[in-house]
Amino acid sequence: MAVREILPTTLTDIIQETPRVCTFRLALPRESSFSFQAGQFVMASIPGFLNTKGRPVRRAYSVASSPRDLEKGFLELTITRVGEGGFFSNRIHECRPGDTINIDGPYGSFILRKAHETPPERYLFVASGSGIAPLRGMIRTILLEDRKVPVSLYYGYRSPADFIFEKELTDYAMERSGFELVTALSRGETTALEKTDLPNFRKGLSGRITRLLPELVPGIDGAEVYICGPPEMVGQSEAFFRAAGYPQERVHKEQW
Ligand SMILES: Cc1cc2nc3c(=O)[nH]c(=O)nc-3n(C[C@H](O)[C@H](O)[C@H](O)COP(=O)(O)OP(=O)(O)OC[C@H]3O[C@@H](n4cnc5c(N)ncnc54)[C@H](O)[C@@H]3O)c2cc1C
Repeated sequence: MAVREILPTTLTDIIQETPRVCTFRLALPRESSFSFQAGQFVMASIPGFLNTKGRPVRRAYSVASSPRDLEKGFLELTITRVGEGGFFSNRIHECRPGDTINIDGPYGSFILRKAHETPPERYLFVASGSGIAPLRGMIRTILLEDRKVPVSLYYGYRSPADFIFEKELTDYAMERSGFELVTALSRGETTALEKTDLPNFRKGLSGRITRLLPELVPGIDGAEVYICGPPEMVGQSEAFFRAAGYPQERVHKEQW
């Protein structure tokens, strides 16, 4: 990976998404020409936060906002505090508005099809946990650009408290008929099952999202598929779509 120019950004907002996950909104310098495509990631570092060799600790984070949000001068990273030993993720959760966060990039080929390319019949997103981050950036892009293509999001997380971007995604499902949202809980109480009257919105189904795919995706269609989450979940989802007949070039994945 070629190292790009380091760009100092200013942390302006910290949005607590779940007990372990925050979204960090970073303002770019006014003169910055930084750009990226929905789905790509940046390498983040914190001035003075060094490893034992005296080099900056750098970690990869997907951009969770849309390139369209850059027009307002910011980008967002949505980061899980991984718990005991998580070196960088714990450190950034100690940061406060006004602090500098360095980024470089963008990197990666997990990229949303562009607006001028032939649109798919549907965008189909499958996420687990913080894997929602780059998919949220893609979904925002599709909606902000008013692309006339239906969107399905199948999102799994552990328990009700772990629903990242809950308000934003719920609002899309409530307000946009072309937006299908299904969420699934891999753990936790099934009493959290919440039925909605909307046919495009099912919340809190029980079980891993990968187990629900055969029911949610009954057959091959012209969807473009984007999967993001832990390796096991991504592997199982990709295997499902391949077995269902989706060609390789229409199934995109990112894992960490
Ligand atoms: C392309 C790419 C995009 C990424 N995007 C995001 C993103 O948008 N949001 C995000 O939160 N992370 C993302 N990551 C993961 C991120 O780069 C770091 O790996 C993560 O934040 C852990 O770094 P750390 O320094 O806190 O932990 P480290 O100090 O590197 O690891 C410490 C310990 O924590 C364990 N650990 C590391 N990650 C996890 C985990 N997820 N769950 C449980 N244990 C873990 C390690 O096995 C190790 O034992 C992405 C990774 C890649 C490669």
